[in-house]
This record gives sequence, C-alpha cells and structure tokens, in this order.
Amino acid sequence: MIKFDISILPGDGIGPEVVAASLDVLRAAETRLRGVRFECTELSVGAGEYLKNGDPLPGSAIARMKQADAILLGAMGLPSVRWPNGVEMTPQIDIREKLDLYNGVRPIKLYHESHSPLKGYGGVNGKPIDFVIIRENCEGLFSERLTPRPAGRDFETDTLKITRRGAERVCREAFKLARTRRKHCTLVDKANVLPSMAFFRKVFDEVAAEFPDVQTDRVYIDAMALFLVQRPHTFDVMVTENMFGDILSDLAAGLVGGMGMAPSADLGDEYGLFQPSHGTAPTIAGKGIANPVATILSLAMLLDWLDHPETKRAARLIEQAVARVCGDPANRTADLGGSLGTRAITEKIIAALE
Ligand code: ATP
Ligand code: MG
Repeated sequence: MIKFDISILPGDGIGPEVVAASLDVLRAAETRLRGVRFECTELSVGAGEYLKNGDPLPGSAIARMKQADAILLGAMGLPSVRWPNGVEMTPQIDIREKLDLYNGVRPIKLYHESHSPLKGYGGVNGKPIDFVIIRENCEGLFSERLTPRPAGRDFETDTLKITRRGAERVCREAFKLARTRRKHCTLVDKANVLPSMAFFRKVFDEVAAEFPDVQTDRVYIDAMALFLVQRPHTFDVMVTENMFGDILSDLAAGLVGGMGMAPSADLGDEYGLFQPSHGTAPTIAGKGIANPVATILSLAMLLDWLDHPETKRAARLIEQAVARVCGDPANRTADLGGSLGTRAITEKIIAALE
C-alpha cells in the first residue's frame, strides 16, 4: 500500500466549501484505486489564521507543506485583511515564492458550448477551446510587493524584474508541455515597449531553439486580449510574465464559464500546489452555491502530477466525470446560470466516476 501525504489548505471565503467538495471526490475516487491511499492533513493558513493568531502563513505550516507529497489549496485572503501599507494579505502568492513554485499552469477548457459567451465554440461542430496558460509565478511585477519603501512619498513604484534563470526555466516548462500537446507555444509579452520583456523574448527564443519540433509565436499582451476573444481555438500553450498571466487567466476563464471552471497548478522542482484560479469570492461565501469544479479539476491535476499509475488513473476518472457532468447543460451551478448548489454538482460528479 502506497500512502500519499496531502496537505490541505482550505483558506478563506469559499475556499473551505470547494475544498470539502473536492475531498469528497477524492474519497470516492480512492475506493476505486488499487494499492494507494491518501492521508490528508488540514493546515490553517490565510486571512482567518491571521485574525486568530497574527500570521497568515505560519512557518510551521510551510514546514509541514514541505513534507507533503502535494498540496491542495482553496483560496486565501479577504478584502478587509490588509498589511499596514494597504495591500491585501496574499499568502497564496507568498507560498509560491517560499516553495519556489515558478511554473503556474492554468488549463482552459470548454466543456459545453452554453458555458461560453462566444458563438461557434464547443458542441459537435464548434471549435474547441483547449489551451494552457503558463504563468511565471515568482518574479515580474508581483515579486517586490513586500519590499519596504520610505513612507510619505508622493509617488510609489513597482519593479518588473525578469531574470535569465526565471525566464529560462518557465519557458522550458512551457515547451515541454507543448511537446505533450499540439506542439505550439506562444510567448505573450510587451517586448516592443519594456526592456524586461525584450529580455524575456530573447530567452524564449534561446529556449525555443532546444525544441525545434515545437512551433512558436510571439504576441503582445494587448493583442492577446483581442485574439483570446476572437480566436481562442488557435492557441495551445502560452507563456507569460506573472501579472500578465494573472490577468489573462481571468479573461480566459471567462471564455469557458468563469472562474469556477478554471483549475491551476503551481509547480516547482520540488513541490506542487494545486488550487482553483479563483479567489475567495467573499460575496457568495457560506451560501453553498460556489462552483467546486475548478477545485475538483485542480485535484485531478494533483493526482496526475503524483505520477503513479493509479493516481493518474484517478485523475482521468475525475476529468471524465467532470466532462460528462458539465457536458450536460442541465447541470449548472449559479455562476453558469443554473440552480445546482456546491453539494448537488459534487454528488453528480461522484456519481459519474466509473
Ligand atoms: P483574487 O484576488 O484572489 O484573484 P478576485 O478578487 O480576483 O480574487 P475572485 O474571488 O476570483 O476575485 O472572484 C471573481 C468573481 O468570480 C466574483 O464575482 C466571484 O463571486 C466569482 N467566482 C469566483 N470563484 C467562483 C466559484 N468557484 N463559483 C462561483 N463564482 C465564483
Ligand atoms: Mg483574480
């Protein structure tokens, strides 16, 4: 019997609700596996933990995460819980940096044509939407947000720093992923204006030379916002800077039904953390209506990443169950215009596991 040790971070807002739904799916999938078991340890991290104990990300929690085989996170942060400089506490970003989870993987897939605001996508004759955004997670515009600055200035700055190491390793992961898919990798940048991005492009071009079998494109971020609305089916894997990836992944989620349909993985060379792309959605927290699909699909990514034949099989079972349930337009949560609650859609997904 192989035991996998999973750290569970429910977090704040709707985090605990979507994580509980995913754990029910995990337990149901586990009964269908041979020779593997999951031991889940819950850790308190986030705005709620800060309000209780004064630290949103205790060192003991980080130490425990480092021992685990993988980490499943709900969502963290609340608009009212801020640092003295006015910015929200974002332990989910701090964890990426502490565990060096530089590779933000955000798959975007349309399960039913009615989920998309675009016409002509999905369905039997429609074009599929099926691409992955690779977001650099550890540097770029987000990385110096906590650097202390002198008080009382009548200006403030943020630094967009891209290092060779940072760009190289994330581009390499994007190309490796493209190789397993449709062999197309698009760089999204602003190399025409920003020297940091011109540098990113230079590194991308160098890495591209290592992958002659992968076709490449280079698109400016503003043009990508346009193309994602006009022709999302033409993209396979795209790689971009931290904040551009943050913004593009919300736009991309909107193409396939919203944040409740967008899973993600934050991967490094040692650790893997899996979470929905959405935040804590405080306005719908506690109502039992949050869409758990993004978290359930993140769980499937976690199981795939554990890289054992049985966990990979579980990942496929879960993905197929989600595809079957979400492929039926009768099965809609409130964010997709339906009336199923968190529990009801989770039960349907569990029933569809085969
Ligand atoms: P963050 O700063 O952490 O990215 P955010 O401020 O961008 O968070 P989200 O919490 O992602 O905001 O919410 C964006 C919108 O999507 C809100 O209207 C929210 O209610 C909705 N939303 C997010 N996740 C879900 C979900 N799982 N189910 C239903 N609606 C959701
Ligand atoms: Mg957001």
